Amino acid sequence: MSSGSEVVGFPEPVQISVSRSRGLTIQWRDGHRSEYPLRYLRDRCPCATCSQTRSGADPSPFPMFQPALRLINAEPVGRYALRLQWSDGHNTGIYSWEYLRSICPCQECSGRTD
Ligand SMILES: [Zn+2]
Ligand SMILES: [Zn+2]
Repeated sequence: MSSGSEVVGFPEPVQISVSRSRGLTIQWRDGHRSEYPLRYLRDRCPCATCSQTRSGADPSPFPMFQPALRLINAEPVGRYALRLQWSDGHNTGIYSWEYLRSICPCQECSGRTD
């Protein structure tokens, strides 16, 4: 109220919906809604293994050869993050709320340039 500056609050979800075949939907406290397709989430897995793979090698040139990816489980880690477990056994990616909000694929969040 004193200044018009932007409030930098920690992003916090009020509702999380998990679809094993489609992905994750998060309703944020500030009213924003984010929908993350499975592949989008997996491509941005923040764990060390995936980060190394991404920086070291090109993505697979044969996307059709990849088995259908499924989300098995999404469990909260403390009060700040979500751990995703995938159908291929991968479960070391811990997605903090802050990270999830930063990669929100919606037009409003991702389409600001141009
Ligand atoms: Zn990973
Ligand atoms: Zn968004």
